[in-house]
Amino acid sequence: MYYRSSDGQQILDGCAGLWCVAAGHCREEITSAVSAAMAKLDYAPTTQFAHPLAFEAAAKVAKLMPEGLDRIFFTNSGSEAVDTALKIALAYHQARGESQRIGFIGRERSYHGSGFGGTSVGGVSVNRKAFAGALLPHVYHMPSIHNLEHNAFSRGQPTWGAHLADDLEKLLALHDPSTIAAVIVDPMAGNVFVPPQGYLQRLREITAKHGILLIFDEVITAFGRLGKATASAFFGVTPDLLTMAKAINNGTVPMGAVAAHRRVYDTIINHSAPGEADLYHGYTYSAHPTAAAATIATLDLYQKEGLFERAASLAPAFERAAHALRDAPHVKDIRNLGLCAGIEIESRPNGIGERSQEIFDGCFEAGVLIRHAGDFIAFAPPLIIEEAQIEQIFDTVRKVGWAPM
Ligand code: PLP
Repeated sequence: MYYRSSDGQQILDGCAGLWCVAAGHCREEITSAVSAAMAKLDYAPTTQFAHPLAFEAAAKVAKLMPEGLDRIFFTNSGSEAVDTALKIALAYHQARGESQRIGFIGRERSYHGSGFGGTSVGGVSVNRKAFAGALLPHVYHMPSIHNLEHNAFSRGQPTWGAHLADDLEKLLALHDPSTIAAVIVDPMAGNVFVPPQGYLQRLREITAKHGILLIFDEVITAFGRLGKATASAFFGVTPDLLTMAKAINNGTVPMGAVAAHRRVYDTIINHSAPGEADLYHGYTYSAHPTAAAATIATLDLYQKEGLFERAASLAPAFERAAHALRDAPHVKDIRNLGLCAGIEIESRPNGIGERSQEIFDGCFEAGVLIRHAGDFIAFAPPLIIEEAQIEQIFDTVRKVGWAPM
């Protein structure tokens, strides 16, 4: 649960590194599997053929995916997984003879990584600004689901807001649904935007009706964050493509993946001419032996220690501890789901991010690592956290938060 700072202080990890380290740091089961893999097979390609660890890792990941999404494409990051999913969507429609489907729909304020595809479908204005003129064409955005007027201080899924999914119908009417390849959303975002009850179900209905693929970007939610293997399982909504990274191997070796529904995979494979590659896309380091070994060991560890179930059972305590900060000064919103929570605070006039920076600094000095962006603080600890450590995180924020606000 801890880092150690350069001056030797123990720092309780309140954000699992960057949403990655679900099983806690430096787990011997994972580090030994990685060094054994490195000693046995330093590298082997995974185009045209592959090494056994790649297949074993794919089979283990597939077992945790929603029903039908059992074809796995490995990448080296979440950003690559997102760009891969977008390209798979295009290839799928082309294989079906609908090559006019080249449009994508994302959502305002959603983050989908740093690649050109992910930046284009992403809806974070500061991330797009310097590149705006060169981003993908034919990309449209649904409105954000963030609404403080209706949903501030919701515990878990807000009850207000399912109708926001109907804006998808409006966008489709405007741009012609037969030109759209896929809709991509993060079922729960890093800024802890929790989907209103019924919202994701509605997106699923609309996309299915129009033959549009639905992509869930689960880079932060896959592997237990919400108390289930995926957010898809948690919400009971199955996408056609699902992206993952981070906790796939406890953040130890760069690795991401796309799980594709078998129907999508079969369509692409059956379309390729004999002797031709089925999908002209891939990375030198896809399913690198060390990353694959780390994935196998990590997924075994999650299962052995029941960490997804542990996250589910700790979620109520996490919710209580987070919402106890409601009366702290300048708190505009607290939101939570599973083992994550976020606190939005009022910005100082002309000083966006100053308050959260002070809270971050204060917490670090007091031995707790949190994550901050703008005037937002996120909490997403390793799933091995103890209840006393949950209290420690939020008590520390309260203590350091009062003074400098
Ligand atoms: N998608 C989501 C929802 C993310 O939260 C992130 C990273 O935080 C990414 C994609 C990009 O992943 P990576 O940083 O591994 O490229």
